Amino acid sequence: MFEISRRDLVLGSTGAALVFGLKGPVSFIGAAHAQRAADSFKYMVGDIEVFSLHDGSVERVVAEGMVKNASVDDVKKALTAAGIGPDKFDNPFTVTAIRTGGKVILFDTGFGNNGPPTVGKLADNMKAAGLDPAAVSTVIISHFHADHISGLWVKETNAQVFPNAEIMMPEVEYKFWTDPALVEKLPEAARGTVKRIQATFPTWKNIKQYSDGADLAPGVKAIATPGHTVGHMSFLVASGGQQLIVQGDASTLHQLFVRNPGWISSFDADGPQAEATRRALFDRVIADKAMIAGYHFGFPNVGTLSKDGNGYAFAAVKA
Ligand SMILES: [Zn+2]
Repeated sequence: MFEISRRDLVLGSTGAALVFGLKGPVSFIGAAHAQRAADSFKYMVGDIEVFSLHDGSVERVVAEGMVKNASVDDVKKALTAAGIGPDKFDNPFTVTAIRTGGKVILFDTGFGNNGPPTVGKLADNMKAAGLDPAAVSTVIISHFHADHISGLWVKETNAQVFPNAEIMMPEVEYKFWTDPALVEKLPEAARGTVKRIQATFPTWKNIKQYSDGADLAPGVKAIATPGHTVGHMSFLVASGGQQLIVQGDASTLHQLFVRNPGWISSFDADGPQAEATRRALFDRVIADKAMIAGYHFGFPNVGTLSKDGNGYAFAAVKA
């Protein structure tokens, strides 16, 4: 399956060896950044270098409505069973990046400097991983929720953080969020990001829209995974017979929505579609013996899936 590049700092080899089928130890990036070992690591999908880069986390208090069709009690039970919560938990944000053919490609952006102090660590963690944020050639956006796109904007000016990169955006998502009529339909609290989108994206010349099945880079293909949002996309990264699915928010917290794919997050725009998408995607991951990376899967955010009753179980690599 995967190979993990050997660098300086060697940790946690047993679990990862188990998952990756490796005999040798797993290495993290940069002994000089040992304190950051928990925030970035690298692995290989065939010839493609893949990076998990933590942007930080935000505390969430478990409350009624967080899962639309499950009681607070059931949510707390699921969190307890997963060893987190149960009254509150850290919602983690982890960006996946790849380096291939000398190009650096980011999948989503984190918050940049637009979030609370506990997030916005992506740029530092890129540097710790040996990636220069200024050298990003392509940013591929999965969907337009603020935790995924805010890193495109400089807070004070709304200027571009990646002016020299090509910004690839899902066509359906772009159309939905740039519709001027949308603002009026949203509650006041939800209007900020939409107004920002509409004030900037149509003026950015480096945006390119893509649709289902598009080849976004050598070895990278778009997979429509609607439900969480109307135009939500996941990505297949394939090289040398190995596959990684970068699933964005097809499922958010795996402890809740991989385990219970029928649970509908308050952030899922279309519940039944989100569930159907999750089941189809997870079945594909299992059938193809692919790895899966989730934006809200914690850190490390990549691992394997297995069928478990009416749901699925995510096993993170022990990196
Ligand atoms: Zn998200």
